[in-house]
Amino acid sequence: MSANIIDGKEFAGGLREKIAQSVKDLRDNHNKVPGLAVILIGNDPASEIYVRNKGIQTKEAGMNSHEFKLPEDTSEEELLSQVEELNNDPEINGILVQFPVPKQISQQKVIETISPLKDVDGLHPINSGYLNSGLEGLVPCTPKGASMLIKANVNDLSGKSAVIIGRSNLVGKPVAQLLLKENCTVTICHSRSQNLKDISSAADILVAAVGIPELVKGDWIKPGAVVIDVGINRIDAPEKGENKTRLVGDVDFNAASKVAGFITPVPGGVGPMTIACLLLNTLNAFCEQNNFEKPSLDF
Ligand code: NAP
Repeated sequence: MSANIIDGKEFAGGLREKIAQSVKDLRDNHNKVPGLAVILIGNDPASEIYVRNKGIQTKEAGMNSHEFKLPEDTSEEELLSQVEELNNDPEINGILVQFPVPKQISQQKVIETISPLKDVDGLHPINSGYLNSGLEGLVPCTPKGASMLIKANVNDLSGKSAVIIGRSNLVGKPVAQLLLKENCTVTICHSRSQNLKDISSAADILVAAVGIPELVKGDWIKPGAVVIDVGINRIDAPEKGENKTRLVGDVDFNAASKVAGFITPVPGGVGPMTIACLLLNTLNAFCEQNNFEKPSLDF
């Protein structure tokens, strides 16, 4: 058996086109477009690449992109006052502070200072509270993207057994809530969980969000299961030459794809959905703040 590969890159591209069309309609009808502010503190090369890509894709969607680059030694007070300023700026509909932040700044304080209405990362306790209560709010981007890919490939999730490996606020817990909302029977595993293999192999839907390269083996997977690999890990690739590396997920893709029914690759699976969902959150936040009807692009 060979799994169907879930092409997140293509799906995300289609979603971004629909978002761009909605932004164009808003511009035509109201002469207004969403604005996304991204704050980067310091010079972490990986973060710089993410922020650059976010800026490019925001502009491609027809939105206004506002980038703020602050020095590594920015104080917590300076960052929080920058966030407050953006909270009060009507041109800004979404605010994202690129994590991790330097050690002198509390990440939690940053999360709690962003207005819940502009919290396009969906990490504010008010938004996670909405999600946990089954209410509408801004949902973290990667879990939202993972859930969309699952729903696009499984007709009826009701009663399905879903196992999530990882319980972070960023990925594991919100994915679990989204699948619970779809009436899955959800099990959340973490670093203290026992018998991961046995738990995983009972899953109709298996989501790995751990950060350990190829932790999930082929024999952990129920034949025909949907496998969503959120992990992004850079490992040495001596086969490509000296000092070369490659990206792998938390799932042993070659072995798992022989057993699963559907599987996301790394790269090209969940990854591209993150920025697409960031744009979708920004569009929804803009509509909410302006009392415009939201386009029905969420599902
Ligand atoms: P995280 O905050 O480090 O959380 C990792 C989770 O995995 C924790 O809940 C941890 O358990 C659990 N864990 C660690 N070792 C384990 C083990 N041996 N068995 C079972 N569970 C274990 O990481 P994260 O932010 O959720 O990210 C997870 C992965 O997704 C990373 O590879 C990250 O790069 C990737 N990611 C990708 C995207 C994207 O696609 N755009 C976005 C975000 C993250 P404890 O809670 O007990 O410590």
